[in-house]
Amino acid sequence: MDAIRRRILLGAAAGTLTGTGALTPMSSAEAQTANAKRTSIIVIGAGVAGLAAARQLVRAGFVVTVLEGRNRIGGRVWTDVADGVPMDIGAGWIHGPEGGNPIATLATEAKARTYLTDDDSITVADTVGSDATESTFGTGQNKFQAALASVSTRMKQSIPDESLATALGIVAPNVLTDPLSVFHLSYDLEFDTGGWLETLSARSYSNDSKYPGKDVILPDGYKAVPELLATGIDIRLNATVTAISHSDNGVVVTAGGMTFNADYCIETLPLGVHKANRVQFSPPLSASKKASINVLGMGQINKVFMIFDKSFWPTDVQYFGFQSAVRGRYNYFMNYRTFSDFNCLVTFGFGQQGAYVESLTEAQLIQDITPVLKTIFGSAATAPRRAIRTSWNSDPFALGAYSFAGVNSTSQDHVTLAKPSSSRLLHAGEHTHELYRATVHGAFLSGEREAKRIISAVSPSSAMSEPDRLFNWAESFYPDLLSPRGTTTLNQGIYTYRYYSSTNVFVGVDDKRNVLFLNAAGLLQTVGKIDDYTARIVAAGL
Ligand SMILES: Cc1cc2nc3c(=O)[nH]c(=O)nc-3n(C[C@H](O)[C@H](O)[C@H](O)COP(=O)(O)OP(=O)(O)OC[C@H]3O[C@@H](n4cnc5c(N)ncnc54)[C@H](O)[C@@H]3O)c2cc1C
Repeated sequence: MDAIRRRILLGAAAGTLTGTGALTPMSSAEAQTANAKRTSIIVIGAGVAGLAAARQLVRAGFVVTVLEGRNRIGGRVWTDVADGVPMDIGAGWIHGPEGGNPIATLATEAKARTYLTDDDSITVADTVGSDATESTFGTGQNKFQAALASVSTRMKQSIPDESLATALGIVAPNVLTDPLSVFHLSYDLEFDTGGWLETLSARSYSNDSKYPGKDVILPDGYKAVPELLATGIDIRLNATVTAISHSDNGVVVTAGGMTFNADYCIETLPLGVHKANRVQFSPPLSASKKASINVLGMGQINKVFMIFDKSFWPTDVQYFGFQSAVRGRYNYFMNYRTFSDFNCLVTFGFGQQGAYVESLTEAQLIQDITPVLKTIFGSAATAPRRAIRTSWNSDPFALGAYSFAGVNSTSQDHVTLAKPSSSRLLHAGEHTHELYRATVHGAFLSGEREAKRIISAVSPSSAMSEPDRLFNWAESFYPDLLSPRGTTTLNQGIYTYRYYSSTNVFVGVDDKRNVLFLNAAGLLQTVGKIDDYTARIVAAGL
């Protein structure tokens, strides 16, 4: 405390002596605020991409309105609760949290509990319920990997692109029938990519990047991440956008019969929504964007959360595999008991089976899955009390799960979709990220990318730093204590602060985003984090 206080005091003294601490007229900060206020931005979609963009822009001092069609935020990152069980209906894992994934930092900031899932903790039953031995499991995995290596060699030749199913049928037809190889092709590859062998590009299906390391889940729900990002942002729910028109002067967005004007717009509509032409663009999207929208695929993944009165399965095994006779149908089960007390198993429909799962009612699902459970776990297995499934294909605000590399697509298609349509209309969303498509981190990075594009396009004087916005708000809130208004902001080491000579107090922010207050008696207090104030700052129009 003393050290911090000394450093702030030294900084203030230095500022005063050199003249930089001299009081500036109140109009300076107000003029800055006015500039920032002039730049208005509409973000379409309150998924992770839209929220990441909005947060960055709000922090930079812009006036941001998010238009979201659903009655909730989060898009494809959301946690429903049934019988008290948190169910991540969209994204479940943070991939490679130790390898640089920015979502891990957000989870920490949100104080969300994480749990390291162990991919090696898996048993894989065949169609009569016998578990594969380590050696047969390994053999299947080797065959699968060798087949993909042969596909890669084949696709290096100058031949037209083809589907992965076609290429595998040529270079390693046995993997399409060998049950363990099929299991790997489905749970490793079709789940990861979102596409299915018949539609995935043999040349490009794995042209993306991954953060290294293991994965974590958020046992209390992934929605902690979008909720954190949404703090203090003006979000209009139930505002379905139907039209966007743009010129070099600005944008006009139509949503729910209302018209919104702004200087800039970042749209984060999912690829599925673009494919279905749900939003009219004027002028229309470029021919190259339309071609990329067509050639990329929108995956079909659905989850089924099964809730039981009691567990009949080994509670310490992370995953149960099943060499399903139908590729992609109920071949992978995640065990809640490894990270919670909930008697819940999650299974999936991958690839084409995503649509099949979605076509069934809860009663039909229970009838369909119970025999599979009995095969894997024996006669002790019971029917689930509930079988709650997702429906991403028919969800009008997603129309699919996540983007994948369709036949004839290349990574350039993601680059094309990321290009601004004009100086005022910008595009984000997982499908616009060349390296990290189909992920939460790809969505997040795409949103930040487009926010930065606006920030650097607009004169820096119209974008105010977060501490400045906080100080300006604090000055308006505590006019007697923090006076005069518009005092110059100083920087010293890890601190950014203002010193109020009339009352001899300091307000500062450190590099950990803590807000500090040093009173006239020399008592230094931490009075929260910047984010604790964002809502009030935004509400004050700053
Ligand atoms: C089943 C499933 C499992 C997944 N698993 C993982 C995983 O484990 N790890 C991982 O990293 N990623 C995973 N993903 C992918 C990840 O969830 C997405 O890539 C990411 O959330 C996409 O974010 P986004 O902001 O680009 O799109 P979205 O989250 O879809 O956001 C777009 C927003 O736009 C809104 N919108 C759509 N149309 C309109 C309109 N006309 N007007 C206004 N608003 C509109 C939508 O409601 C939505 O809120 C999974 C996805 C699914 C579906």
